[in-house]
This record gives sequence, structure tokens and C-alpha cells, in this order.
Amino acid sequence: MKITGFEIIVVGAPWRELTIVEVQTDEGITGVGEVRMVNKTDTLVSAIQELGDRYLIGSDPADLSKLAWNIQVAEYGLPGEVGQSALAAFDIACWDILGKSLGVPIYKLLGGIFTERVEAYANGWYQGDRDPKIIAEYASKVVERGYRGLKMDPFGHASAEMTTADLRRSVGILEAVRDTVGPDIQIYVEMHGRFTSHTARRVAKAIEHIEPGWIEEPVLPMDVSGLRSVRNHTHLPIALGERIHEPSTLIPFLEEGLVDILQVDTTHHAGITGLQRLVGWSDAYNVRLAPHNVCGPIGTAAALHVAIAASNTKVLEHFNDFADPWVHEIVEGAPYVNPKDGAFDLPTAPGLGLTLNKDICAKHPRTGGRLALYAAGWEKRQDAKNYDSHGKK
Ligand SMILES: [Mg+2]
Repeated sequence: MKITGFEIIVVGAPWRELTIVEVQTDEGITGVGEVRMVNKTDTLVSAIQELGDRYLIGSDPADLSKLAWNIQVAEYGLPGEVGQSALAAFDIACWDILGKSLGVPIYKLLGGIFTERVEAYANGWYQGDRDPKIIAEYASKVVERGYRGLKMDPFGHASAEMTTADLRRSVGILEAVRDTVGPDIQIYVEMHGRFTSHTARRVAKAIEHIEPGWIEEPVLPMDVSGLRSVRNHTHLPIALGERIHEPSTLIPFLEEGLVDILQVDTTHHAGITGLQRLVGWSDAYNVRLAPHNVCGPIGTAAALHVAIAASNTKVLEHFNDFADPWVHEIVEGAPYVNPKDGAFDLPTAPGLGLTLNKDICAKHPRTGGRLALYAAGWEKRQDAKNYDSHGKK
């Protein structure tokens, strides 16, 4: 089988753009991949076009190690976030083709089912003012929908430090959420790398009584010494990895025991092949996997197939029941979180198990949507033009 062409489609939501690649073959089988690029969609689209023309056309969709080597090594320049994301789009589409050509779901090709029920946790659900009562009301809807875990960044647009008043407000929000959801729902606390090490230590101590399931990116991604200090001052589990794009970058975090839950994103780390390469490595360090996922249904499905087959999956992130729920409609067969147990239903159709609907995609053209995490009101996930500082201006 040879790849004969590919098509790039970008679907726009107010705060994110979903870049979809459909890959075509000479046997008439097509596959789809998806990346939700963090803000640089134009850059990603250019990289997909350039690298796809160079390495994808004429190749066999089964030759995924060679495709990865071409983009990661033969290009000479390091692939980085953009290169690894372009590769992810191709890789996911090729796995979809392979699964369809063999008539099996992708997880059957990754070692088979380890767990039929991958638990989801909700994100994108707190699109309101930073008021404990308002946020607690949103949290109650997440639990009513059947989720057993939810994640939030209650720290507003904090950068480096926090005033005592703002920390008190953030803690108040978390306390209201805990009171509402009860002791058995996981609350994952997102810090988005906002803090210096000393602020992260202070915040971690202030929220211990909430019993969060983890604290996420307490310091900037490459502040290893800062993270080491946080690690030494809190018993709370530490999650990170969404801004790590190559395995070598993980070395200090794994070898020094600085991470408990690895959150590498399938679509920024070379796709299904890239994530699968981390399954065994992270397992050797007794580290759990919770793939970062801000994608629509295609990227979600890609992460889900790996998560079903991996022996160290903890939970999988999901936005699409609360943020832009219409994105389910861009495919038939979107991953579904069952309210019965808060876990994804097991996909059973060949490949990713879904079919792209280009007509629906065309109804949601590009928006320029992006996330401005240092602008007040970013939680509302509106058009970035509405942000009032450190945004587009
Ligand atoms: Mg995060």
C-alpha cells in the first residue's frame, strides 16, 4: 500500500483550532489524524504540508519508524513541538489506515486490551467568574454527567507569584468544589507552570487539605531544580509532560523521580508510535500515564487506543462534554464517556473507529482561536480578542 495524498482541514472553536489530516492510499483506504496545536496553527499547517510532501507521499503507511526517523533525525534540525505534532498527525492517520486494512481496532495492534474501561476526567467545565459558588455549581454538573474526576486551574492569571488575597480566593474555590463533589471525586489541580518554586511550595501547602489527585506543572516545564525543591516540600503527587515533545527531555524527570503521573500528549509527541514508546519506559520507573488531551474526537480516540493497551494508564483527559460539545459531530463514532461509570466506552470498529464528516467540519471554519493563560478571564475560553491583558494586544 502506498500513500497517494493528504488533505488538511482546520476546524475552529473560539479558543482552539483542531487541525485534521486525512491521508489517502492507492487501495482506497483513508485514515485521519488530528492535532490541537497550542496557538501556532498556521505554523503547524505549514509544517504538515512541507514534511508531508517530503516524506509521506509514496511511503507505505506501515513504515512508521522510518517516517519518524525522517522527521526526527534526517531533517537534522530538531523537530520540537511543531515537528513532533506534524508527525503525530501523520502517524495517527497511518495507524487508522493500518487498523482498517487489517479489520481491527488499533489497540489490538498495541498489545491488546489491558483495560476495557479507561476513566475520563473533565476539563473545560469551569467557564465562569472566579467565585466559589459559581464554580461549585459548574462542578456539580460535571459529577451529574457521571465523571469521577475533574481538573481545574483556580489561580486566575497568576504569573510567578500570588498575593495572599488571591491565594485565599483560589483556595476558597477549591474548598467549594470539594464540598460540592464530596470526598470520592478526584480533583486534579492545574498550575500551568505559573509559579516560581517558592510560590509553588506555598500554594501546594495551602491546598493539601483539599486532597488533590495531583498538582500539575507547578513550575515552568524545564525548571528542573525548582521542581526538585517542590518535590522535597510536598507529599502531593506531581503530574507533568504536556510540554515535553521528545523522550530525551524526560530523562531528569524519570531518573530523579520528580514525576508521578506522566502527561505526554499523543499529538505533540509523535503520535501513537511516540506515546507507545513511552509506555514501557515510564512503566519501568513505576510512573502512571495520564495523556494530556485537548483534542476533538480524533485525537481523543488516538490517546484512548494507547490507554486501553497500556498497563500503566491512570486516566485520560476530556474537554468535549463541556467545551464546544459540537466537536463530537465532526465524526461518526466519537469517543463516549459513559455516565454509568465515568469511563470511555470501548471502541470496537477497525482503526480509530470513527468516520470524518467533512460537511460538518466545513460549518466550523477557522477562528484564530487560541488560549491566553496569562490574561484575566482565560477560563471562560472565549475568543482571545476578549482578553484584557497580556493577550493579543
Ligand atoms: Mg496542563
